[in-house]
Amino acid sequence: MAIIGIVEEKCTGCGICVRSCPMDVIRLDKQAKLARIAYQSDCMTCYLCQKDCREEAVIVSAARAKHIPLAW
Ligand code: SF4
Ligand code: SF4
Repeated sequence: MAIIGIVEEKCTGCGICVRSCPMDVIRLDKQAKLARIAYQSDCMTCYLCQKDCREEAVIVSAARAKHIPLAW
């Protein structure tokens, strides 16, 4: 599944996870001041968003949505 949720009660809308994601999966809803999952199927389960969120609001599941291409 990859990224599976953002806990609204914890999210402050800081936008760090949006900037962390190399796959452009997360978008900031500026009106609601919340991060939203926009393109879940593009998630490669790198955990950067979860790691960088200071509020521990991002939930990433261990199952991969996409295979990470190997360099060899
Ligand atoms: S980094 Fe965490 S608190 Fe900040 S917008 Fe993303 S989910 Fe919300
Ligand atoms: S796990 Fe990685 S690819 Fe998936 S939403 Fe988070 S930062 Fe983006």
